[in-house]
Amino acid sequence: MAELPANSAGVEVERPPPTRVRVMLPLPLPEALDYLPPDGATPPKPGSFARVGLGSRRLIGVVWEEGGGELPPERLKPVIDILPTPPLRPEMRRFVERVAAYTLTPPGMVLRMAMSVEEALLPRPPRRVCAMTAAGLAVLDDAAADPKLTAARRRVLQALRDEGACSAAELARRAGCGAGVVRGLIAAGHISEEFVSGEPAPEPIPDWRSDGPALSADQAAAAQRLVERVREGGFSVTVLDGVTGSGKTETYFAAIAAALAAGRQVLVLLPEIALGAQWLDRFRRRFGAAPAEWHSDVSHSARRDTWRAVAEGRARIVVGARSALFLPFAELGLIIVDEEHDASYKQEDGVCYQARDMAVLRASIAEIPIVLVSATPSLETVVNVSRNRYQRVHLPRRHAEASLPKIDLVDMRRERIEAARFLSPPLVAALGETLAAGEQALLFLNRRGYAPLTLCRACGHRFQCPNCTAWLVEHRFTARLICHHCGYAAAVPALCPECMTAGTLVPCGPGVERLQEEVAARFPQARVALMVSDLLLGPRAAAELAEGMVAHRYDVLIGTQIVAKGHHFPMLTLVGVVDADLGLVGGDLRATERTYQLLQQVAGRAGRAERPGRVLIQTYMPEQAVMRALAAGDRDRFLAAEAEARRAAGLPPFGRLAALIVSAADAEAADFSARALARAAPQLPGIAVLGPAPAPLAILRGRHRRRFLVKADRGTNLQAALRDWLGRVRVTGSVRVQADIDPYSFL
Ligand code: ADP
Ligand code: ZN
Repeated sequence: MAELPANSAGVEVERPPPTRVRVMLPLPLPEALDYLPPDGATPPKPGSFARVGLGSRRLIGVVWEEGGGELPPERLKPVIDILPTPPLRPEMRRFVERVAAYTLTPPGMVLRMAMSVEEALLPRPPRRVCAMTAAGLAVLDDAAADPKLTAARRRVLQALRDEGACSAAELARRAGCGAGVVRGLIAAGHISEEFVSGEPAPEPIPDWRSDGPALSADQAAAAQRLVERVREGGFSVTVLDGVTGSGKTETYFAAIAAALAAGRQVLVLLPEIALGAQWLDRFRRRFGAAPAEWHSDVSHSARRDTWRAVAEGRARIVVGARSALFLPFAELGLIIVDEEHDASYKQEDGVCYQARDMAVLRASIAEIPIVLVSATPSLETVVNVSRNRYQRVHLPRRHAEASLPKIDLVDMRRERIEAARFLSPPLVAALGETLAAGEQALLFLNRRGYAPLTLCRACGHRFQCPNCTAWLVEHRFTARLICHHCGYAAAVPALCPECMTAGTLVPCGPGVERLQEEVAARFPQARVALMVSDLLLGPRAAAELAEGMVAHRYDVLIGTQIVAKGHHFPMLTLVGVVDADLGLVGGDLRATERTYQLLQQVAGRAGRAERPGRVLIQTYMPEQAVMRALAAGDRDRFLAAEAEARRAAGLPPFGRLAALIVSAADAEAADFSARALARAAPQLPGIAVLGPAPAPLAILRGRHRRRFLVKADRGTNLQAALRDWLGRVRVTGSVRVQADIDPYSFL
């Protein structure tokens, strides 16, 4: 940076206003572009949102810094105007730059995540809201006044009365009904529509003064340490490690209260917010107001409001999925990453980033504390604790003396199982006992649909996705064959398309729908519910299912991994893991760790209240270290063995990995570019390049894929080597090269 000019008395003279500014645009450009200040105006401050022209387009970008490059001023355009939006804070701009550098992404593409709702940058247009009329209030008080008042209509009116005016779409969402119900009420005169302008009413402020439940001694000590970190301020990473049901959520609520009390904003990241209904309820009960939500199910207009409320500091707490990390907080004071081990924190397309790791980066730049929460912390986190980079706070016991469930393995090699059945005799017997005792059971199978493969008994034809190297999965409820990678769907045909015989298609292997059929056949009285992460099941349906379980409207819950997280069902005493080996196939370096975490989480659903729980794990590999560790409840031994294996192989967190995925519309182009990359591969000490090889998913969404895997020692500057490598190879046409630092998926 140039030194400030000083006059002879040593007093700094004022610098002349900068003659140009650099503006970062949300585009895949290598750097910010130069512009002149807007005509006749003072130069905009760094961080300001600015409208500029680029070619024939008008775009919104961010004034990144003053000064600029070599281009003569007559070739530069002036900034068109500056938007009345709170500027992007310096720490956020540094964060964008650091994420871009770490993930090898153009900074504009990271900035794009930080300004994801363009309307939020513009002044708010007047909007139409629903308001209660006197007639509406009257029928709420006296249902007899309107015989046509259906349950759905009543819910809408109640939501409007209790939570205030809002758009028709938002009202329908709150009441959990279709937009038609709201329109009907408008037509009936129970609701009126009005235009209002300006920002919506301030977000309700969570009341941090209200006391939570009395904490146990362990919990109080843990909470105390978290609260101290918040009060001290500054960067720190604390790992809140405690068995499921030990009260981790209650404990970090204390830290949230401390941050709110200090007038700071709080960000809570959760893996899949759709599962957060119980979490939201708890938050509301504790703090008396709902947090702002940020995830894929939030409507566009609600996102707009939330982005703005976060930037202006009106929203004090946000709970969201990984993308919430890129919200422009005005005064962020604490980040919580719940279920920090969860693989869904890794984004696999677009900008490939690990939200937990980037959250630590963000906390360090903002100089604030961050808390990583898990019952089964990731190996990366465990190793960071052992290196004293993270502090650990431990909750060793379940709350209120609830005991941890007893875990038994069922050796499937020894069990006799009928054809086309998937439950072993011990699991069937346990199910029978549980139901007879009036308790609930959970069957876990991490496979959506009816059967993972469909084939023709006559000719052996297998149904494959036309766009991907993957089998189509039969979904019997919807009578479709679906690709779980690209979403391709086709009706189940009457004839085999290969040999044209009728009635020869047979399902192979179990999916949750098929399991439901088996449970219904064996226990016709049992009330069975299915919980899957299919798109069909929105957050509200998931919440209703969870409520149904708590209210004991179901006896058996069958589900994929979405049941593993966070739920608390007091009457659930049996967990059956139908195929524990599923996650172990495939060459993923985290396969065993992930299996351990997932099964431990599922097991943690059993016996969370007074009644003790038990867990049966069906496996064909009972000698596997993971299975033995689960049965023995010996997490530390498992982690030590896993760490040793990774250390020996130089894998993360003891070494570094990156993947390069070359993809193209045709196989020749992909191979050509992959070979060109191979020729230019770095030859540096401490770095090994493996590949190119066809990716296991060699064709995905119609694109042919080749992979490189780069292994490096921990001390090497992997990004610099990759940047240099990619800079030396030009790819053309339809070819794309995607870098994935710290990859989680190897498909
Ligand atoms: P974790 O997040 O570790 O799984 P939770 O915070 O969800 O644990 O607590 C498990 C259950 O125990 C919840 O229903 C919670 O309300 C209850 N609980 C935990 N700590 C307390 C406490 N100190 N007083 C009352 N209930 C508690
Ligand atoms: Zn597909």
